[in-house]
Amino acid sequence: MSNPYPQSLQMHIDGEWIDVGDRDVHQVINPATGNAIADLPKANKDDLDRALDAAAKAFPMWRDTPVAERAAILHKAADLMRDRAGDMGKLMTAEQGKPVGQATGEVTASAAHFDIMAEEAKRCYGRVLVRPAGQNSFVKYQPVGPVAAFSPWNFPVFTPIRKLAPAIAAGCSIILKPAEETPASAIEMMRCLQDAGLPAGVCQIVFGDPGEVSSHLIASDVIRKVSFTGSVPVGKHLTKLAAEGMKRTTMELGGHAPVLVFDDCDLEKTLNLTAMQKYRNAGQVCVSPTRFYVQSGVYDKFVEAFAERAAKVAVGDGFGDGIEMGPLANPRRPSSVGEMIEDAKIKGAEVKLGGNRQDKDGFFFDPTVLSHVPLDAKIMNDEPFGPVAVMRPFDKLDEAIEQANRLPLGLAAYAFTSNLHIANMVGDAIEAGMVGINNLTVSPGDAPFGGVKESGHGSEDGPDGLKAYMVTKAIHQA
Ligand code: NAD
Repeated sequence: MSNPYPQSLQMHIDGEWIDVGDRDVHQVINPATGNAIADLPKANKDDLDRALDAAAKAFPMWRDTPVAERAAILHKAADLMRDRAGDMGKLMTAEQGKPVGQATGEVTASAAHFDIMAEEAKRCYGRVLVRPAGQNSFVKYQPVGPVAAFSPWNFPVFTPIRKLAPAIAAGCSIILKPAEETPASAIEMMRCLQDAGLPAGVCQIVFGDPGEVSSHLIASDVIRKVSFTGSVPVGKHLTKLAAEGMKRTTMELGGHAPVLVFDDCDLEKTLNLTAMQKYRNAGQVCVSPTRFYVQSGVYDKFVEAFAERAAKVAVGDGFGDGIEMGPLANPRRPSSVGEMIEDAKIKGAEVKLGGNRQDKDGFFFDPTVLSHVPLDAKIMNDEPFGPVAVMRPFDKLDEAIEQANRLPLGLAAYAFTSNLHIANMVGDAIEAGMVGINNLTVSPGDAPFGGVKESGHGSEDGPDGLKAYMVTKAIHQA
């Protein structure tokens, strides 16, 4: 694989790499400079039909391929990704902006998903039910069929691999549309699969106009399952399209993670963990710690010390030495985050740090801390998806839980306390798919990852993530 970033990118359909040719083009932008760096082909209807035909043709072959062979290909692809992580990380930094160390780490951590799903698929045991002698009833899990998957730009390898790995391990074929903004690292993941021996047609990668691609694919009789990671409005739209054909869906949508900081927590540890994680990937993380509810006894101290740490975050081009936070990923983000901060200020929030788009090329934004943010501020209700921590004090446990649960979202939630009773109460009472207690790591790969309420439905990762690509069948023999 070559670096720097290739000037022209390709799609992958039925084992073939497809150039721009006479297709419409999407220009990929480097968010650290705002400059166009590559042309990406946009699929036309013929391309999409070809991808559907390929997925339909490959499905029975792949479904009937022994699981050990499927697993061996996934393990090989994981090894190739680890070997190529340095180069893939550089592509990701050029197209998405995150620091190159974080980008390389994303590739390496993502490779583990191929390994995990390869092993889960081998152990996807069914059940034998108790019946009188001579009769048998079995429960079996079978691959659901060809999948249409759509992944976003914030984690250009981590979000698509959470769909590719379980689909391929389960025996499904798949058509993936990664985000047009961050295509090259997903393309290189496809190359790892191909070089590992994945047969033609099992996995296709297409790009295009997101609305046109998703409506065309989801309407096709070939597609039996839809998986999406992205915003709530788009998730609702795709769920409606899938409902027309009663197709199964996995929807990993936005969050607005509450962080409950209790007086009795280990304050240094809490500050170090949360201030570091808040600005990872410039806050463009669906499980980013965002709404900080801090108990009154430590509120002032926490806000000051958090802002001091945030002020030290080194912001710049992700290729620079020692850079901890890159630009936001696209020009929509600084405008959206800036508008939310202005709204919060007008409604009475105090700016403790930052608050502005940085005055240079690219889409850089200050690490920002807002204190005493009113509940009616837009930023307390809509996911900021940027480098902003919003803080409010609370007094009692019940009040903290009520605040944590007040939004229609429920992806991740966090609490910091050394009181076992509080930890247990928070773990049980918070409406979220994942709860981190004294811990911000909620996506280890072997545990279910997904939301409740408007944050979506269905789990990715671990055994639940594999089953999301399978149907359950009961067979009764008399
Ligand atoms: P958006 O809603 O336009 O797009 C979100 C993602 O969905 C993008 O990857 C986009 O390519 C894709 N998309 C959009 N319309 C689609 C369609 N009709 N069919 C298929 N895919 C489609 O928003 P955006 O400006 O990219 O991001 C805005 C918000 O989305 C963020 O503020 C955040 O709340 C949310 N988001 C969440 C995640 C996540 O990990 N859950 C990732 C990215 C964005």
